[in-house]
Amino acid sequence: MTDNQALNAFKQNFRGDLVSPADSGYDEARKLYNGMIDKRPRLIGRCADIADVMAAINFGRDNGWPIAVRGGGHNGPGLGSVDDGLVIDLSAMKGVRVDPESRTARVGAGCTQGDLDHATHAFGLATPAGIISTTGIAGLTLSGGHGYLSRKYGLTVDNLLEADVVLADGTFVTASKEKNSDLLWALRGGGGNFGVVTSFKFQLHPVGMVFAGPIAWDQKHARTIMQRYREFLQQAPEELGVFLGLKKVLSSAPFPQEIWGKRICLLMCCYNGSEEEGTKALAPLLGSLPEPWLNWMGVMPYPAVQSMFDGLYPKGMQWYWRGDFVKTLPDQAIDAHLEHAEKTPSELSLMHLYPIDGKVHRIRNDETAWNCRDATWSMVIAGIDPNPQQAGPIARWAKAYWDAVHPYDLGGAYPNFMMDDEGDGRLRATFGENYGRLAELKKKYDPANVFRVNQNIRPAA
Ligand SMILES: Cc1cc2nc3c(=O)[nH]c(=O)nc-3n(C[C@H](O)[C@H](O)[C@H](O)COP(=O)(O)OP(=O)(O)OC[C@H]3O[C@@H](n4cnc5c(N)ncnc54)[C@H](O)[C@@H]3O)c2cc1C
Repeated sequence: MTDNQALNAFKQNFRGDLVSPADSGYDEARKLYNGMIDKRPRLIGRCADIADVMAAINFGRDNGWPIAVRGGGHNGPGLGSVDDGLVIDLSAMKGVRVDPESRTARVGAGCTQGDLDHATHAFGLATPAGIISTTGIAGLTLSGGHGYLSRKYGLTVDNLLEADVVLADGTFVTASKEKNSDLLWALRGGGGNFGVVTSFKFQLHPVGMVFAGPIAWDQKHARTIMQRYREFLQQAPEELGVFLGLKKVLSSAPFPQEIWGKRICLLMCCYNGSEEEGTKALAPLLGSLPEPWLNWMGVMPYPAVQSMFDGLYPKGMQWYWRGDFVKTLPDQAIDAHLEHAEKTPSELSLMHLYPIDGKVHRIRNDETAWNCRDATWSMVIAGIDPNPQQAGPIARWAKAYWDAVHPYDLGGAYPNFMMDDEGDGRLRATFGENYGRLAELKKKYDPANVFRVNQNIRPAA
């Protein structure tokens, strides 16, 4: 078969939409969340079903096209797309089926976090996931997934019970504790290296109304807040998810105009329980701190806190980020943070410290591919700006900030907070003792490295 014949046969066999550079919708279809990334695939296949995923993998592999796999398109370095190759876009494969009896949900790989939260909230249930509702559940889950519920219920991967997967040879398998358990182990943190997941089954937990919201102080108090926060977290109830941020107040509603553009230290809180219990849980910390500039905590449905930041971070802005796992936060590290937080190049740029503790620590490093369970925080430094001309300054700021705090960190980083310019060594440091097993499983499930547009684990020699 010639290349054209193979392409035509693929097109005839494909039930979803195929978008090529000649189509009017091409520029919209190739857009990613990070406006800094401008990739031009040869074809975007918006799969309608598993048969489409199989056809796409077989076509791409047999014809030597690089293949990218896209869920929500939120990946920082844009690993959900590829220049001059085939994008297997799963965004149309949505649908969530909640089983209230077993407290589980079967979730289509095209779902966003918001899709999942919306469906499970009706049952008073949820599973841990990140803090922006437009993020794809697929990419987030496969590399870990941390959020407000993680202290109590673990990472998103800790709640992954089963996955339907199309492998590099085009065959379909289910990975669970009973079937292909080695594959399930690898999918629990090893990223998109092992196949295309078409649906996930998650454990859910009772989560309904929460007491949540931001509390922000003048950044001049940040040293005290960081010191108290690092002590407080060790004994805080696990129902309380609370991350710390160094950033600026945006110069827009709903923020009070008198603090627009000011530097703040933020505690973003979510207590899974009543206002009374949440207030009690936070009292030891808040009682030892000065009066904040704002305290917007209130009782709200869980999906409301999950989408609270959506409007501030719309698709298409410039993002450059660096991450690290952090075990301790010595005073010297706090000094380095404060020095660089003083130099944020834009109103949106930020540093966040997300807790990695509680239930996450009660699972051993070798129980899942996700290896950094002795960290206390997952840190991200993100340079963010709507203006493409700011791409250079925000990246330089994030790198310089990271250089200053990295010596106090653990060496590895959350793969979902990596760009694609940090080298293989970073991934090896992140997976640590699990790297060898992952490379063996890569050799078993994808020996030719068909799935290499990702934070790539190469097949063992
Ligand atoms: C604003 C923002 C906030 C964030 N907050 C958090 C947070 O609070 N917690 C957190 O844990 N993470 C967070 N993240 C990181 C997020 O988890 C990653 O960006 C993740 O990669 C997004 O997944 P996606 O499906 O949208 O990405 P995509 O770009 O669609 O895919 C990313 C990669 O995932 C793999 N992949 C995607 N779908 C599949 C599939 N079905 N089968 C196999 N491989 C697949 C592929 O390797 C692909 O290259 C945040 C990201 C952003 C941009």
